[in-house]
Amino acid sequence: MTAVQPKTEATTITVRNPADGSVVGAVPIEMPADVAAKARELRLFQPEWEALGPRGRKHWLLTYQDWVLDNAEHITDVLQSETGKPRSEASIEAPLTATLLDYWARHAEQFLADEHPRSFSPFAVTKKLTTVYRPYPVVGVITPWNYPFVMPALDLVAALAAGAAVLLKPSEVTPLSAVEFVRGWTEIGAPPVLALATGYGDTGVAVIDNADFVQFTGSTATGRKVAVACAERLIPCSLELGGKDPALVLADADLDRAANGIAWGGMGNSGQICISVERVYVEAPVYDEFLAKLTANVRQLRQGQDDRKFAFDIGSLANMAQRDKVKGHVDEAIAAGARAITGGKPTGTGAFFEPTVLVDVNQSMTCMTEETFGPTIPVVKVADEAEAIRLANDSKYGLSATVWTRDRERGERIARRLNVGAVNVNDVLSNIFAFDLPMGGWKESGVGTRLGGAAGIRKYCRPQAITSPRIPTQAKEILWYPASRRRTKLALSLARASAARGVRRLGIKPR
Ligand code: NAD
Repeated sequence: MTAVQPKTEATTITVRNPADGSVVGAVPIEMPADVAAKARELRLFQPEWEALGPRGRKHWLLTYQDWVLDNAEHITDVLQSETGKPRSEASIEAPLTATLLDYWARHAEQFLADEHPRSFSPFAVTKKLTTVYRPYPVVGVITPWNYPFVMPALDLVAALAAGAAVLLKPSEVTPLSAVEFVRGWTEIGAPPVLALATGYGDTGVAVIDNADFVQFTGSTATGRKVAVACAERLIPCSLELGGKDPALVLADADLDRAANGIAWGGMGNSGQICISVERVYVEAPVYDEFLAKLTANVRQLRQGQDDRKFAFDIGSLANMAQRDKVKGHVDEAIAAGARAITGGKPTGTGAFFEPTVLVDVNQSMTCMTEETFGPTIPVVKVADEAEAIRLANDSKYGLSATVWTRDRERGERIARRLNVGAVNVNDVLSNIFAFDLPMGGWKESGVGTRLGGAAGIRKYCRPQAITSPRIPTQAKEILWYPASRRRTKLALSLARASAARGVRRLGIKPR
């Protein structure tokens, strides 16, 4: 949830630690003219960056990887101060960023290599065919507040590796980590192809106005606006949006593993992960036992603000507006007959909300239909596998899901019946760590994918087709002037030859 853009003459955003309200920094609100100037400068340097080729860019990406590893403690301090995360959660972002840099730096050359397909069409059989992957000059990357350091990395590293220049617009709630991100790139002396635009939604609009491709991560509501703005400019975009991810616990599941995994998947980062477990369907025979185990797990979680001490499992939410949204979902459910068997209300003085397990919920409550993005796990008893699948699919979202069963084949079979972009069997969140797999939402959870091998870097490229003659001594080609009946006949016989080849492949005799 974006902080509302205040109607003030302010030229800066004050950043606060949501765990205690203290001021931790400030960034400028960049106006459309500032953003346009930055994009112009990126355009000046991008051709040289592209010309370096994947090998030349690899040098800078790996140098930057060293910078991230050398500065991991400081990065963690900064992102912890603006998110209210406990140390254990905050300290994952720098290592994950370093690994993403490694992945794209080492694979870009292979993924971007020219391709030379053999012509299927007889009309081009005499040609050498080449597909070249050329980057969009300026990629706008717009990010939310839940992972302020690694979230930009998840998308912009592939864009840089592709040879694009990147204009990063971080969330107004957590811009300080992005300041560090770009500072590091400058500090290593890398070419100036990564720039920062801080501000509210209007700054995001200006980024779209000046980019050639937009990679957006955030809420479905804002994603819709981004899609419209990109359509107006006729530029492509990729949208990673919200979710309401179901967990299906089957009667043959290892209940200890399921309860542990779902506690982590639902409460990790205070539930502020796009692929958090947001609703759980449990087969009737194991419902009571599973619920007892899950509740015991959740009750054990330690919540608080720990600076560098690794003392807590759960921190605060990212801001008070988010805390109020979570409270709204829980209060509405309880008013309609649900029960919080643990947690259920805000706690402490900052943006903390107790880790909460809800029961007696039904499919129409807001806590089951809308993304909560908080430390809440609503649990529902179902008759059987079929009902679990039906209810899991009964959502406007389709980001990810988890299935819990001792029978792995059964889990993978059920995965293919779930209408979501990723399914983790007997685990949570694991797809995000598997860079070789595509990550993307179905339905209102997104358009396009990130990561996923070659597709994850080629998305930042415009494929260019190049043809040249394989037989350069030919005086003229068959389709050139002069136009003639002979040419038409030749075209028809080439088409017949192609059709004959096609039917032969099906085992049918050509006429
Ligand atoms: P948000 O949509 O409010 O804001 C995201 C970004 O968009 C911010 O930088 C914001 O300033 C900017 N923005 C706002 N209005 C804009 C406009 N009109 N044009 C361009 N940019 C604009 O999202 P949030 O509250 O910061 O983040 C939480 C959401 O992000 C949740 O819904 C979560 O599920 C989603 N998310 C999705 C993924 C994923 O991979 N699918 C990952 C993380 C978070």
